[in-house]
Amino acid sequence: MRWSGWGDPGAAHGLPGGVKLLLAAVLGRIPAARPAPDLAEVTVTTPPLDDADVAALASVVGAAHVDVGREARMLHAGGKSTPDLLRRRQAEQVAPGVVVLPGSEDEVAAVLAVAGERSLAVVPFGGGTAVTGGLEPDAGAHRGVVSLDLRRLAGLVTLDTTAQEATLWAGTTAPAAESALGEQGFELGHFPQSFEFATLGGFAAMRSSGQSSAGYGRFDAMVTGLRVVTPTGLLDLGRAPGSAAGPDLVRWFLGSEGAFGVITQVRVRVHPTPEVRLFDAWTFGDFVAGADALRRVAQLGTGPTVLRLSDEDETAVSLAQVGNLGKALARGCSAVVLHEGPDGLAQARREATTRVLREAGGRPAAEKLAVSWDHGRFKAPYLRDALLDNGVFCETLETATTWSNLHALKTAVTGALADGLAKEGAKSRVLCHVSHVYPTGASLYFTVIAGLGVDPLVPWERVKHRVNDAITAAGATISHHHGVGADHAPWLEQEIGEVGLRMLRAVKAELDPAGIMNPGALLGPTTPPRPAGQGG
Ligand SMILES: Cc1cc2nc3c(=O)[nH]c(=O)nc-3n(C[C@H](O)[C@H](O)[C@H](O)COP(=O)(O)OP(=O)(O)OC[C@H]3O[C@@H](n4cnc5c(N)ncnc54)[C@H](O)[C@@H]3O)c2cc1C
Repeated sequence: MRWSGWGDPGAAHGLPGGVKLLLAAVLGRIPAARPAPDLAEVTVTTPPLDDADVAALASVVGAAHVDVGREARMLHAGGKSTPDLLRRRQAEQVAPGVVVLPGSEDEVAAVLAVAGERSLAVVPFGGGTAVTGGLEPDAGAHRGVVSLDLRRLAGLVTLDTTAQEATLWAGTTAPAAESALGEQGFELGHFPQSFEFATLGGFAAMRSSGQSSAGYGRFDAMVTGLRVVTPTGLLDLGRAPGSAAGPDLVRWFLGSEGAFGVITQVRVRVHPTPEVRLFDAWTFGDFVAGADALRRVAQLGTGPTVLRLSDEDETAVSLAQVGNLGKALARGCSAVVLHEGPDGLAQARREATTRVLREAGGRPAAEKLAVSWDHGRFKAPYLRDALLDNGVFCETLETATTWSNLHALKTAVTGALADGLAKEGAKSRVLCHVSHVYPTGASLYFTVIAGLGVDPLVPWERVKHRVNDAITAAGATISHHHGVGADHAPWLEQEIGEVGLRMLRAVKAELDPAGIMNPGALLGPTTPPRPAGQGG
């Protein structure tokens, strides 16, 4: 992973010609970009932890697994949102005081104990792909920050092929999990766009949702058990496929964002590797017609694995990206549908979905559009780097609501983005797709591109604030799958209420009385540390 951008440096690329033409037409003249500096040019304003702290941590994990080097600290300096990447282009930056790599659950517990004794904040670090500020090196009331990188806690622990349930270490990356399961004929089926780097612990901590969610559900729906090390003890949760033994404590840690403790193992349901994968592409006259068609499929439950609908603007940009500028200028919306599983069952599901989509006014399109979406689906983050390098601001955000409220929400968010960016003097284009569907509603995923000037960070923060207000006022969720982090924390109370916030604070106070666990995330930087046992 690049410290100042996304992914494998070898996979980085420039802007495709079609995109350049479209950008010039939409955004006009773009000022020259501020290039990402070399690491050596950056001043890291937060010092490394002192020798005594480092020695205490090294006594737990071994000196080879404690790193105060500049590169390691900058690789753990934050997540991969566009504001994170813009901060990585600045001359002065903050970073954690040390990176620590525990090799066992006992070492995790011992690191938390040392951190508590020495008043050090601990930020759990999985794949580093967070996009809502949950990896900010925020020390809170403490002396410094330990980035707790879980990469050594990786691999398959057990696979029960009868129950179709697997336990994996939390630091296992998604590709490593699929590879280990695939060797035994199974698959997890969680494919977020951050698939290449994100970890199972990160998915659980953030309540992630992948592109196959129509078929296999969100990540939190896949989780059947967790092991979590907290500053006050270990929890081993989830012992039966269904239980009425009080409130479900597993759910308390899904979305806990490292603020309650460290997830060390994740138990998930898995399924046999699909025998066939059947791709279809569809077009609809407009977004309203397309969304109605997706609603009918989700409510009837015909069983696609992937079901996504791009709005008119996103459809045009996707076509321009593959060089089809002529078609890109025509109006209409495209949908991608995938059915998979055992051959006969997948075919039967595909036929049922096809009937519904046709009845809803859909027209079948070339299958290659869906196949090319599948081939290119992890490449968009590389394109964002190319856009930033060319001075084009590009960011994504997401939310969810009921089908009844979907179009009002889309209008509200698109309006807040367009108006906010116009107030900042920027030309922009807002793209949107339905990314995840449920019988009762769907998630909307927005991509914004704008000519926001040479220093877009502060103007974008103002725009994002307006958008978050618009989402909340529209009655939608502040996040369907990117989580709360530090960025959405000020909007959490409006979503869960004052009592809900007190419940979260009470649990944190019980599990993390000194407030060392990820002080900036979930509950926000204002959360005061509380003595154990004193909620409220
Ligand atoms: C280009 C891009 C595309 C993305 N696409 C999607 C998408 O399609 N769907 C989606 O849901 N998300 C997406 N994301 C967001 C991100 O990938 C998810 O939030 C993911 O779950 C983070 O996993 P991670 O392992 O990288 O966690 P990190 O980024 O390392 O950490 C995320 C948060 O979880 C905490 N944490 C991590 N591991 C643990 C642990 N073991 N125990 C306790 N706390 C922990 C961290 O402290 C932090 O607060 C995308 C991000 C990017 C940059």
